[in-house]
Parts: sequence; C-alpha cells; structure tokens
Amino acid sequence: MVDGGAMRPGWWVGADRCLQCHAPASSAGLCHACLTALPWNTPACWHCAEALPDQTASRCPACLQRAPPWHGAWCALRFEAPIVRWIHALKYHADLSAARRLALLLAHALRQHRAPPPELLVPMPLFPARMRLRGFNQAQLLADTLGHALRLRAAPAAARRQRDTADQTELSAKERRRNLRGAFAADARQVAGRHVAIVDDVLTTGASCHALSLALRNAGAVRIDVWCVARTP
Ligand SMILES: [Zn+2]
Ligand SMILES: [Zn+2]
Repeated sequence: MVDGGAMRPGWWVGADRCLQCHAPASSAGLCHACLTALPWNTPACWHCAEALPDQTASRCPACLQRAPPWHGAWCALRFEAPIVRWIHALKYHADLSAARRLALLLAHALRQHRAPPPELLVPMPLFPARMRLRGFNQAQLLADTLGHALRLRAAPAAARRQRDTADQTELSAKERRRNLRGAFAADARQVAGRHVAIVDDVLTTGASCHALSLALRNAGAVRIDVWCVARTP
C-alpha cells in the first residue's frame, strides 16, 4: 500500500500561505479548508475513474460491458476549476509550481485510497518533436514529483511514442483509439514482469492510456494501473 502518512512536511517549498485564500497553508500550497473544497473525484469507477453518482456500484456501466486493458485507474480530481487552470498553467505556461502542486494532490489521493504501489511510474510519452517544441513533458514532471513524494521510481525511458498523432480533440473515442494504434513502444528490459503505473495529467477518453497499456503489456508488464491528476466528465 502507498504509505498512508501525511504529506512529508517541509517538502513543499515556497508556500506558507494558501494560494487560494492566503490562510496558513497545510499541504500542496493550500490551507486545509481549500484542500478539502477541491473537486475530489469520489465516488468513481475503480476501472476507468469516471465519476459515479453514488457508491452503490464500484464500476461504471461501460466498464461492466467492456473493461479497459489496464487493471485500475486512479484520478485524484475532477477536471473543474481550479484544477483546469492549474493544468493549463503547467501545460501551456511551464508553471513548475503547478506541476508540483498537482503531483502532491495526486499523491494525497493515492495515499487516501491506499492504491497499491507499482514498481515503476511510466509517464505518458510525448512524441520527440513535440517534446522539443514544448521543452518538457508535463507527465514526466508529474511522475518525478510523484515518485519523490511516494518513494517510487519514475522511468521516463520505459516507453516512447514512435508516431506523432494529430490533434485528437475533434475525434470520437473510437476514432482516437484507431488513430493511436501502434503509436507507442515499451522497453521490455524495463517493464517485463513488473507492475507499472502510467502517469498523466488528464484522463479523457482513455485512448492514449489504452494504446500505451497494450504496448506495455506486449513488452511483458504484468499489471498496469493508470494514475492521473484529473478526470474529465
Ligand atoms: Zn485556503
Ligand atoms: Zn468505468
């Protein structure tokens, strides 16, 4: 189980005041009240992390019909304010304090839910040309901080994106999956026989995680979980 203790004190740097309301901060740069008021993603389907209306079922109807190719998905928060703003700050403005904050919130949720720790964290890879353009991979920044907070190893070279895929926002879930077929390759030397967790910022249709899961499984990973900061509705 992921260590159930509180966030390591003193690790969060540069925030002794809550960035939402300026009260004394407790963890991840937020005070206790603002931390509690965040749109935490519970209850949710344990298989795809989609929000559920109540706790009577543990899986959503879609997963009961056809399960995704990974074991379980944990998404800490719902993709709503202020999370959307922080994720945009990370992705489009390279705001490293947002990366740290989001990763710590994910660590917090994983501890609360006692998520079984994987042996490796595999950040969702970016296509190399895209990475050069952006200058960083937000999933890798999240995995690094998460690994530090939970004492898990991040393995950014365990998987790579071998094909660039055009902007997928206009595509349906099915088209996205088709578009991503064969887009990833995983390194068997790093993942074979291992329990791994894919780390990413947002889980939307799950098409990228679907394709990466298949690549990780082909390379011999024995269990694949999905750990994302936020889940879209
Ligand atoms: Zn506050
Ligand atoms: Zn589901």
